[in-house]
Amino acid sequence: MGNIFGRRPAAPGGESRPPVVMGSHVDSVPTGGRFDGALGVVCAIEAVRALDDARVLTRHPVEVAVFTNEEGARFQPAMLGSAVLAGKIPLEDAYQARDRHGIRLVDELERIGYLGPEPCAARPMRAYLELHIEQGPLLEEAGLSVGVVEGIVAIAWTRVTFHGDQDHAGPTPMRTRRDALVAAAEVVRSVRRIALELGDGPVGTVGWLDVHPNIVNAIPGKVVFTVDLRAPSDALLDRAVAGLDAAVRDAAAAEGVRVEAERMMRVPLTRFDSDVVGAIQAATESLGTPHRRMLSGAGHDAQHMATLCPTGMVFVPSIAGKSHCEEEATDFDDVERGANVLLHAALRLAEPV
Ligand SMILES: [Zn+2]
Repeated sequence: MGNIFGRRPAAPGGESRPPVVMGSHVDSVPTGGRFDGALGVVCAIEAVRALDDARVLTRHPVEVAVFTNEEGARFQPAMLGSAVLAGKIPLEDAYQARDRHGIRLVDELERIGYLGPEPCAARPMRAYLELHIEQGPLLEEAGLSVGVVEGIVAIAWTRVTFHGDQDHAGPTPMRTRRDALVAAAEVVRSVRRIALELGDGPVGTVGWLDVHPNIVNAIPGKVVFTVDLRAPSDALLDRAVAGLDAAVRDAAAAEGVRVEAERMMRVPLTRFDSDVVGAIQAATESLGTPHRRMLSGAGHDAQHMATLCPTGMVFVPSIAGKSHCEEEATDFDDVERGANVLLHAALRLAEPV
């Protein structure tokens, strides 16, 4: 699958113990930044080097993991390497994923020399730790260096299609129109209202619209669009999805258009392991690092790893909250504090001898 694992052996007698794994991904998005994913891998390698420099031996092996295709920018779905490892997606299906030029993932892995001989299969792991940039503004706003991540928000994706009447933009009177884009516009506004009405946590986004025929002088006869809803609990997400369904029905009725709605994806709230979160918390306290508990608003490989072994994440601040853009950055003082938290949390779990 192209996932990479590097191993630092345990102290003598400990090689058969399950490893403490640290990692993230090194793929990116078009015109993305240098920190998303790569920082977690670099900090994991640095943590292993620090153990070597200090000649610290551990009862459990310590591993660095790099997962293939986390972003899903070229091959869908996202988080593909960790999904295959976790048994969520069959290896053969992942191999057949094609980019927009029709090139298969398996052929690209072979071409770049990453179609390795090791099976991509789960094995016992003591813990998985992932350091990642926050990709939001909360840590910077609070002046904190580290987020102790307790889990990942619940996510629902819906694809909505409105079928109206395509017609001429000139001779067709306003009173007889069934405009699929007008109905979609109502839903775009409703998604924002629904998220705001549910309080501080939930967020909603219409990020993709496909308008037919998408020309100046025709009334749109068909619009397909996606709705991304996220919430800090499954119950709140249920309420957001119910609100969306009502808004879609109302918009269709008001404009007299036909509607199809399809659930593309539903991921329940991921709650990280309390022992691993506790080890991260203890590391921040022993180092005196200013921190807060928080949820991740974005999906990460840790989401799949949490189904395989006790898992936790360390966040470091994103300057101005920006990510998936070239301005993406983290102050290197914060990187150092986060890397030390990662190191000391991993050390607690790997048990120094
Ligand atoms: Zn990432």
